[in-house]
Amino acid sequence: MSKIVMKFGGTSIATTDKIKHVATRISKEKAAGHEIVVVVSAMGKTTDELVRLANEISENPSKREMDMLLSTGEQVTMALLAIQLNQLGHEAISLTGWQAGLQTDLVHRNARIEKLDAKNILNLLSDNKIVIVAGFQGVSADGQITTLGRGGSDTTAVAIAASIEADVCDVYTDVDGIYTSDPRFVPTARKLDELEYDEMLELANLGAGVLSPRAVEFAKNHKIPLRVRSSYNEGIGTVLKGEVDLENNLVVRGVAFEADIVRLTMEYEVPFNDSLAKIFTTLAANHINVDIIVQSIVDGKKPTVSFSIKKEWLAETITVLESNKEALGFTFADFEVGLAKVSIVGSGMVSNPGVAAQMFDRLQKESIPVKMVSTSEIKVSVVIPQDDMIRAANALHDEFGLALV
Ligand code: ASP
Ligand code: MG
Repeated sequence: MSKIVMKFGGTSIATTDKIKHVATRISKEKAAGHEIVVVVSAMGKTTDELVRLANEISENPSKREMDMLLSTGEQVTMALLAIQLNQLGHEAISLTGWQAGLQTDLVHRNARIEKLDAKNILNLLSDNKIVIVAGFQGVSADGQITTLGRGGSDTTAVAIAASIEADVCDVYTDVDGIYTSDPRFVPTARKLDELEYDEMLELANLGAGVLSPRAVEFAKNHKIPLRVRSSYNEGIGTVLKGEVDLENNLVVRGVAFEADIVRLTMEYEVPFNDSLAKIFTTLAANHINVDIIVQSIVDGKKPTVSFSIKKEWLAETITVLESNKEALGFTFADFEVGLAKVSIVGSGMVSNPGVAAQMFDRLQKESIPVKMVSTSEIKVSVVIPQDDMIRAANALHDEFGLALV
């Protein structure tokens, strides 16, 4: 008998029919003798819909009230699923975040888990119940309902898996695992059987929406065996673990891409030692996430600092820069829209020099101009024109031998 956490995302439970299907699946695991905790998301696009409703009333709704609103989505699913499991003859009980013992800090809409007291869950499991927990929500020490940020149900699942010492945490979704690239745009992409936490972390941070980065980080830190599987078939999906053999000597295991990147550039009359620190402290204080940073100080030229952000942050970034122009000391700011980021990820890069060179070489052969570069031990990202994004992704997928064979 094992302890299993099964997490179902929005698309897997979008309708009552899908909830019935999922219940049957849970029922099978229960029949196999496992102890089961289920974590659910809100049905379909419910969370988006709730956000939209709030925005019909206010552009800037209170974050506390947004948490009250958004946390209802998961509660609908958990109750419906419990009702269906009862219907199938199981003893199932649904729990809100606070009933499940999930305590967070008080950062509304982006709370972090502080502790998870699994006493209640464990008691219910030993009473032979199927325990269903609302994902995405928790409670602060002083009793306020919080949510964990978009995609937060994944984090709930992994945190519960850690606290009950589950044997495995299965994240069920509408794809059958993690792919070498997004198959909707890279037709030769294929499913990976295994992937390292760190590789998944890079891919998740690069926008592979299947798993939330915070959940992957949590799984990595607590060594939770995490699987990404399809809710529609019995496939084993993709298993995340600490170390994976270099399958067919594949140095690169994934190609990720993201549209709507903007590059901002500031020019200075004279070099300032503290200009970098000042800009990024100011942006951070305003919660603006900066990605790639390039500083250029060349004799005889005016110094510049460029950085990339997501397009959605542009208006706010410009406001922040403009209103701090004097303190920051730059003379000229410009931005370029219509850019995209394409990245290659693979832990094999650490021990294989020349991967970045091979990437630039291929992009050059494809006549794709590279505007910015950033590297980590297991990732190289380039900023390129958005019009070239899909072509670049396909070319790199081919270049590093990831295509279906
Ligand atoms: N329902 C929340 C969202 O859509 C949390 C989740 O699904 O993980 O972001
Ligand atoms: Mg999700």
